[in-house]
Amino acid sequence: MSGFDGIGGNVTVDGGKLWADILETARFGATPKGGIRRLTLTEEDRQVRDWFVRTCEALGCVVTFDSMGNQFARRAGTNPSLPPITMGSHLDTQPTGGKFDGIVGVLGGLAVLRALHESGRETRHPVELINWTNEEGSRFAPAMLSSGVFAGVFTEEEALAKTDRDGVRFEDALVGIGYRGAERCGDHPVAAYFELHIEQGPILEAERKTIGVVTGVQGMRWYEVTVIGRDGHAGATPMALRADALVGTAKLIEAVQSIALKHAPGAVGTVGLLENRPNSRNVVPGEVFFSVDLRDPDDAVIVRMEEAFRATAAQVASESGLEITIELVWDSPAVRFDPTCIDAVRRAADSFAYPARDIVSGAGHDAVYMAGVTPTTMIFIPCAGGVSHNEEESAETDDVTAGANVLLRAVLDADERLN
Ligand SMILES: [Zn+2]
Repeated sequence: MSGFDGIGGNVTVDGGKLWADILETARFGATPKGGIRRLTLTEEDRQVRDWFVRTCEALGCVVTFDSMGNQFARRAGTNPSLPPITMGSHLDTQPTGGKFDGIVGVLGGLAVLRALHESGRETRHPVELINWTNEEGSRFAPAMLSSGVFAGVFTEEEALAKTDRDGVRFEDALVGIGYRGAERCGDHPVAAYFELHIEQGPILEAERKTIGVVTGVQGMRWYEVTVIGRDGHAGATPMALRADALVGTAKLIEAVQSIALKHAPGAVGTVGLLENRPNSRNVVPGEVFFSVDLRDPDDAVIVRMEEAFRATAAQVASESGLEITIELVWDSPAVRFDPTCIDAVRRAADSFAYPARDIVSGAGHDAVYMAGVTPTTMIFIPCAGGVSHNEEESAETDDVTAGANVLLRAVLDADERLN
């Protein structure tokens, strides 16, 4: 046994009720293919929010919502002067979303509140469950909008002014479903934040691990590259006199691949978009435009990858008579989660003897912004085939229960260790 004896006692979540909650809320926006279409601030979103309020209140929680519609279900602690240990994720989905992305985090948190309520277990801090508004960003871009306002990354004014494709303002949609609250978004002290989520990748399933101890979110940079050569007749232009932009591009694509491999296993590099001009079978290509996506858990590695790519580009340009420009168009720094919170998750997984491994998130989550304002980490569970943002998305009952159990014990551990 681990040092967890005593922390959490024998309290565990009711996995059957948790699964039943997943199926029950999946009715709000259910699609014929078994997925969910529950875009933020729609009627379906209102229905699941109302369900959230009713269900949390039945567990003795006080439910409030802020000016961005973020919902907070609070179970009181024994020391009312302490800010809450929070758990959360999102109940909105993609247009053809699944039953688990985001939902496991909110309903898993609900299972924790239920376990505390039914066991009568007391905590020093209040324990609070958060349902973030518009995590997906598919109706109102960008994603993670309301946790972003909460963390001060976006202003509330710019968020409220966002419009969907039909020209509906975010603020009007929020007022329309009755969830624009009086508390200003961000004016809500928190002591820590834990987010349970499906991995949305294949690693845990492939390695037969139940729990991913998430240590951070990888950094990411996007570049746009333009390679300019000289159009020429495919028959009449001798090889020695060509400036073939596509051949130069081929060398650069190969460089992205080899640079990423050189920094394996953490780094990834992708050329996913390419436009070849004039794209005619008997013309030597005179211009190519393509994208580069570089990611790694360590920003310093991304910088080194960029330097290597720029050096290769300079060499290709001088050897091949090409003009190559590289523009950095997006820089999303890596996030490292809080060591105390990560340790709480690791100890919780050990205490249940769940197979676990450290993992870095390849996707963005509300936890990315929360990490800027409070000790934060995440817990991953496997999903079938790593498939997500898809109606086929699926997870095993036992894994969902395990994730919620780890969330429960991590929260109890944090309650003891944090102030
Ligand atoms: Zn999500």
